[in-house]
Amino acid sequence: MMIRMEILFCTSEAYPLVKTGGLGDVSGSLPQAISALGNDVRLVLPAYPAALEQAGGLETVASLTLEGSAEAVNILKGQFPGSDVVLYLVDAPVMFRRAGNPYVQDDGSDWPDNAARFALFNRAIVALATGQVDAGWRPQVVHCNDWQTGLVPALLSQLPARPATLFTVHNLSYQGLFPGSTLSTLGLPSALWTMDGVEFHGQLSFLKGGIAFADRITTVSPTYAREICTPAFGCGLEGLLQYRADRLSGILNGMDCNVWDPQNDPHIEKHYTVHTLQYKAVNKAALQREMGLPQDAQAMLIGHIGRLVEQKGVDLILEMLGDLFPHPVQMAVLGSGDEKLERRLVSAAGRYPGQLAVQIGYDEALAHRIEAGSDCFLMPSRYEPCGLNQLYSLRYGTVPIVHRTGGLADTVTDLNDKSARDYTATGFVFETDTPEAILNACLRALAYFQSARVNWWKLVITGMKRDFCWTASAAQYVDVYRALCQHQSQAQAPQALRASQAG
Ligand code: ADP
Repeated sequence: MMIRMEILFCTSEAYPLVKTGGLGDVSGSLPQAISALGNDVRLVLPAYPAALEQAGGLETVASLTLEGSAEAVNILKGQFPGSDVVLYLVDAPVMFRRAGNPYVQDDGSDWPDNAARFALFNRAIVALATGQVDAGWRPQVVHCNDWQTGLVPALLSQLPARPATLFTVHNLSYQGLFPGSTLSTLGLPSALWTMDGVEFHGQLSFLKGGIAFADRITTVSPTYAREICTPAFGCGLEGLLQYRADRLSGILNGMDCNVWDPQNDPHIEKHYTVHTLQYKAVNKAALQREMGLPQDAQAMLIGHIGRLVEQKGVDLILEMLGDLFPHPVQMAVLGSGDEKLERRLVSAAGRYPGQLAVQIGYDEALAHRIEAGSDCFLMPSRYEPCGLNQLYSLRYGTVPIVHRTGGLADTVTDLNDKSARDYTATGFVFETDTPEAILNACLRALAYFQSARVNWWKLVITGMKRDFCWTASAAQYVDVYRALCQHQSQAQAPQALRASQAG
């Protein structure tokens, strides 16, 4: 029998309310998939202006006095857009009602009061998690995501009766590190300040709060779960992660198959399916026109979208362009982030007119058109916890060319003799994060693109038929929740007995 569980899903972003990267996509779609499996899942995030604007009708269900805020913190309740998922917004105007990015100022530097902002968010979550808000609604499991909610498991661990906690690491290198003195400035319990607690080489680590204190830890792909236990990927936390390895597992991210669907995508020129793949060429021509590239059907068009940061390996792409562009290849790049990388990309576009088109900025609709119009999609990430664009690419019949790391390794099957023969190949995978390896993989893709079309279409269709929608992964989360609930009820039964005997 299916038992309905109450889950509080805690996140600092959720598409379409607010999104800076993959966490936003996941938080916007996973709760709905968990709800569809028969659970009462509720989402909590800060009341940023964009979230307040788009959330629709909201009522105030509590006005909390919390340490760290001179003003009352209101908890607003509504409905997550387009779903039956309950939405809570933590409204602390001084902290969250700011225009722009949730984490950084216009010049790209962190908001100077991020520790106070997210500590307050975490305290509000603890109030929600312990039944102090909304007529005593009490979740059985509190599911936290990334450093912005990392203090929640730590704070809850200090309470005698508490819900179970799950902490999901979407990217280990964003740790929420602040000076050690922040612990007392924020009035956090000194008991948390230990080497196996929130202390990280004299600094306060929000992320460690999640990893050290949560009952279970997940990350967003099985390969990344193994990688982060090694010094090369562990960001200094590999020792703790090895210690907690029996509580750590990887669950692959799914994708929102309603938002990313070439058959229904409102952003693209012409809809298509595996049966009408000829229309992909219409999208390619439209993208070439939009990006100012020659409308050449024979040129292999490679797309790339992402945050311009070292992780994503755009610098490696820049280094191999000189060897790539003597070949009939075009590239369409969309990204924003590091200003130096932005400048280098723009200047490269000037050097290779007609072959490299660069759009600096964040543009959700153009991202869809690049997925639909490109022949291939390049992801040379140095590390990639899961990666979503390769999943979108597969669904859009755009062949991924990826570095064998993290979720990229788990989701793309390299083309070789065997995988070509048994129709399991979905893309091109390279082993090292070097310009040479990226170039070789692109040229391998080009050779295949130029060979018999029937082979290329087989590769495309195999990818389009892979199912990365949420159903399977959401069921794995539900299994984790269920195990947590069982464990919690067993652990709390003796406590309750002791309490009743004492009473
Ligand atoms: P990460 O979370 O590390 O940024 P993911 O691949 O998991 O990487 O998710 C990135 C998400 O953000 C994708 O949906 C991608 O399309 C989107 N994205 C990143 N940069 C841009 C941009 N400049 N314009 C539009 N969408 C972007």
